[in-house]
Amino acid sequence: MPVKGEKKRGRALILGMARSGRAAARLLLTEGYDVIALDRTLSAETHEVWPALERMGSIQGLWGEHPLSALDGVEILVRSPGVRHDIPLLKEAYQRGIEVVGELELAYRRIRGALLALTGTNGKSTTTAWLAHILKESGRRATAAGNIGRPLSDAVLEEPPDTCFVVEVSSFQLEDISSFRPHVGVLLNITPDHLDRYASLEAYAEMKWNLFSHQGSDDWAVLPGDLSQGRSLKARTLHFGDAPGVDGVFSLGGEMVCEREGMRELIIPLNRLPLPGPHNQRNAMAAAAAAIAYGLAPDEIVEGLSTFKALPHRMEPVGRANEILWINDSKATNVDSLEVALKSYPSGIILIAGGRDKEGDFSRLKALAVQSIRHLILLGEAAETIRRAWPDVPATMVANLEEAVQTAGMKARSGEVVLLSPGCASQDMFKDYEERGHQFRDLVRKHHLEVESCGRDEETA
Ligand code: ADP
Repeated sequence: MPVKGEKKRGRALILGMARSGRAAARLLLTEGYDVIALDRTLSAETHEVWPALERMGSIQGLWGEHPLSALDGVEILVRSPGVRHDIPLLKEAYQRGIEVVGELELAYRRIRGALLALTGTNGKSTTTAWLAHILKESGRRATAAGNIGRPLSDAVLEEPPDTCFVVEVSSFQLEDISSFRPHVGVLLNITPDHLDRYASLEAYAEMKWNLFSHQGSDDWAVLPGDLSQGRSLKARTLHFGDAPGVDGVFSLGGEMVCEREGMRELIIPLNRLPLPGPHNQRNAMAAAAAAIAYGLAPDEIVEGLSTFKALPHRMEPVGRANEILWINDSKATNVDSLEVALKSYPSGIILIAGGRDKEGDFSRLKALAVQSIRHLILLGEAAETIRRAWPDVPATMVANLEEAVQTAGMKARSGEVVLLSPGCASQDMFKDYEERGHQFRDLVRKHHLEVESCGRDEETA
């Protein structure tokens, strides 16, 4: 396959063999590169796929030390976002003039079809999947990829060249792009998160703006109006949110409307959207604006907007019994996500929250918590912090998720919602948010046997 920006097949080094590193290895081996894979340890996942990688071509694994001699003859180095720029091997690579790219950039250079890319602090996976769904429902060949769980390298290898790639991009991945140019770039929102990794909110925000940095005047930038103030972008812009008056997709009088060149067109009444909460209305508007920027007519996006199902662990309905709805929002690992979850139901919430505190400011949500939560069930390291932040909300402290589900079952009344939306990371008690969400779903089914399952049948993220 001819490749933009690279001359001939030679030697490639992959620094960091996590999921995206393994995908980069597959891509490069398919193209005939000699691949050196380097990581501190050989993980169980890499060990499992290693025989398959060896069958694809020439690959050598180096686990442990990072000898500088590994760079000899290397033309291209693929850096995993987890590897710091200042380690000796990378410094040496820069000094030798070896091209260092991220997996996203590597895969991008192989794309022949259209590329739509989304970034932001919250809502990336939901909006990426929603947009891919809209495109598919309109008859386009489209696939979701990137941070959503399927590295772009895998998607590029496996999908036909005329596919429309809808890619979720994290700010870490935007650190290593040199030509990545989405035809439609979507910036959903920017709020404080990952400040452990960036010097300031400005530095974090700056990284997100990289999404648009290689766009030209034929491309599109889709973003909330308030974010674009004071910025000049080369791409044409479409806004979304609640400030009509410029071109974009907005909510107006209970409807989602499209405004272009002074003309207003109804897309869909907001109450026909399948996911709850004002945040999902914004996600839907962002996806709609991106689809319109890509070239779909407003009436082509209605089907996809109205038939999308929540992704696992994101306001995902996992059961309904005795008129009580059980929602798994385990992905809510920060206070902003918890806030939008609470705003999705005006009152009568039995909230299960807590976990590893990311120094979130829970007191900010005090009034909302009093209004929307009827009973609070707290677990994990942050339990006490949350209880103190919301002293007026009746609360029960529990030791584990099983106890939380049992307590919630006893507290909840018909018409109410039991919501797992922790507002915290999961690693104090679980491997990750997915394990927490799976356990929640299993426990709901175990303790409330008459629960009818709802939502997606199987994971598709
Ligand atoms: P991301 O991929 O950016 O982490 P997800 O779609 O996986 O986003 O959603 C993560 C969490 O954020 C979920 O708890 C979800 O309910 C919440 N969320 C989704 N969209 C938004 C939004 N637009 N603003 C704030 N929070 C959101």
